[in-house]
Amino acid sequence: MIDLTLFGKQSETDRLKALYNDGRMPHAIMFTGEKGTGKKMLARWCALLMLCENSDKAPCMECRNCTNIKNDDHPDVIFAKGEKYTADGIRDIVQQTSLFPNDGDLRIVIFEDCDEMSEVQQNILLKAIEEPSKYNRYIFTCKNTASVLPTIKSRVVTIPVSEMTNHDCVSCLVAKGVPEQEATKYVLKLGKNPGRILDIINDKKKVALRESAERIARCIADENEYETAKEFSHYTDREELFGILYALYEIIGSAVRPDSADEGAVKELKEKLTFKKLYTLTERIEELTALSDYNVNAKVFAAYCSSRLFEIIA
Ligand SMILES: [Zn+2]
Repeated sequence: MIDLTLFGKQSETDRLKALYNDGRMPHAIMFTGEKGTGKKMLARWCALLMLCENSDKAPCMECRNCTNIKNDDHPDVIFAKGEKYTADGIRDIVQQTSLFPNDGDLRIVIFEDCDEMSEVQQNILLKAIEEPSKYNRYIFTCKNTASVLPTIKSRVVTIPVSEMTNHDCVSCLVAKGVPEQEATKYVLKLGKNPGRILDIINDKKKVALRESAERIARCIADENEYETAKEFSHYTDREELFGILYALYEIIGSAVRPDSADEGAVKELKEKLTFKKLYTLTERIEELTALSDYNVNAKVFAAYCSSRLFEIIA
């Protein structure tokens, strides 16, 4: 059974319940926000709301529809993405939506990470959502709306997923089995995104990369180009290098956020470098991570990263 407890989603669920109670539930909804902030969970919750048999207290979590959704076994709740989006897969879904629902009078199709669909794929989908049928409701989740066609965006009601409080984020992590003290430490260190924190905790490699990025961040704070280059040069694997850049982006990103915890490398960066330099560094790292689509030589790239970063420090 899926644990559908939501954390820090009160404003979103209040808004959805109000729309539902007023009979103004949109035909298509798009939840937007960072990866790991609970968009998919909210999409499931929304399916519960719309399919619950007890409309006066939906989602009741007890009726047959709610139970089936909780068991991830409802014939009319379709997760469209699967492993990844394909044109044929989307055509199949569009075809399905032309049929009557299996069980009741409503089918919910959930397009997770719809920004991962190509333009061609989005155009195939557009046909289905252009001609609303009373049998279908569409829920999208999206990290980056810039990749979504305007023709799709104009047909959905966008609901941004609000940032969690520290407390909500810690509670969420504790519910996932992280000890409270550790959870609190991670939230202060990494920000209020439980999905990202879980990814990091669960992946020891990422933790090791994070430690490297912390060392690099300290070298940057010390304006020590030689040590920075040396630290980068330990990596000859592209994936690891980009992992370090992402971690470095988070660390330096924390240093430019006024509400972040001042400890470790973040503290050193804040004390030793100007806000302008730190901010420019985050922009530079963004430029460097954009190169992940190119087949760059890792050794050359490692040296390049360090020199590009130190153009800003110097
Ligand atoms: Zn129910």
